[in-house]
Amino acid sequence: MTFQKAIMKWYDREGRELPWRVKGGLRQDAYKAWLAEIMLQQTVVKTVIPYYLKFLKKWPTVENLAKAKEEDVLREWAGLGYYARARNLLKCAQAVVRDYNGAFPDQEEELRKLPGIGRYTAASVRAIAFQKPANVVDGNVERVMARIYAVKEKMPAAKEKLYTLAGKLVPRERAGDYAQALMDLGATICTPDNPQCDKCPVQKFCKAYAEDAPEKYPQREAKKAVPQKYGHVYWLMGKDGVLCERRAEKGLFAGMVGLPTSTWELKQGKTKPPVKALWKKSGLIKHSFTHFDLTLQIWHASAEKYDKIKESYFWIQKKDIYDAGLPTLFKKVLPYTLGAAAATANSTGRKRAR
Ligand code: SF4
Repeated sequence: MTFQKAIMKWYDREGRELPWRVKGGLRQDAYKAWLAEIMLQQTVVKTVIPYYLKFLKKWPTVENLAKAKEEDVLREWAGLGYYARARNLLKCAQAVVRDYNGAFPDQEEELRKLPGIGRYTAASVRAIAFQKPANVVDGNVERVMARIYAVKEKMPAAKEKLYTLAGKLVPRERAGDYAQALMDLGATICTPDNPQCDKCPVQKFCKAYAEDAPEKYPQREAKKAVPQKYGHVYWLMGKDGVLCERRAEKGLFAGMVGLPTSTWELKQGKTKPPVKALWKKSGLIKHSFTHFDLTLQIWHASAEKYDKIKESYFWIQKKDIYDAGLPTLFKKVLPYTLGAAAATANSTGRKRAR
């Protein structure tokens, strides 16, 4: 049996059932395939499922999404992270409707002209939505390839070699099922730690297994330390609610709703609250971004009267703060300011509602 036959036989039997997945060599609707793939970038399946279902309910077709307001898309996306994806999602839907009459193209070259679609997403949409041959290589597939071929080059330099090796295996038939089978293998069997080689359908093709050293691959350069940054975040209760900020059009959380913060620097600077009030410390929150870790000192205050506030500031009623579309960083402030019990009750309620 070939590598491809072995993995697809396993996928037909044991591949995960996921809301965006159709098996048996069938084509998935391109809008659904694209939506899922954009959400899955840098994000685990369990986190994506409720967002995917929520988006499909609200915007069942690419035409519906193309008509959405950016602030609505950003609000629904809040908590998924990497917010440039949400902005590109809307731009891409608009381009598909405007330039392709609402039908996603099946050529990778065309797909890559669309906002937010790179090499990986173009290949996955072509394979999954059209079942046409495409080399779909994410982190899971890189790991499987590194082990199957016992690739000695270190990551990230080995990426192109792994891409080429994966490309040589792409079958002409059922390319979408094959791509998803490889992803599933990497996500469920050939995991970074403790791979379950005894359950692996392609064990007999695997050089890393033959060497009895699967976890040695992919080989990696030593990780560089991530810088630590510091800053302040402010929770102000006024007569009109909680003081919030529409963030600038560029930079982290561009265009989203946030709480007022200082700049984030390598050393903790002095607190510069958004208005004069009796500010008190409430605790520290920590958050990791791709390129730095952040620690923010929380300050809280109440003020009925205050000096003029910045144009980007506005008020949100306390009861509406969970639905305001705050990114996860700012949601971490809520248990300190609303009380842990209230914050948990509210976040549980939202999950049930999805
Ligand atoms: S045999 Fe083990 S290391 Fe090799 S592909 Fe299968 S799970 Fe991964």
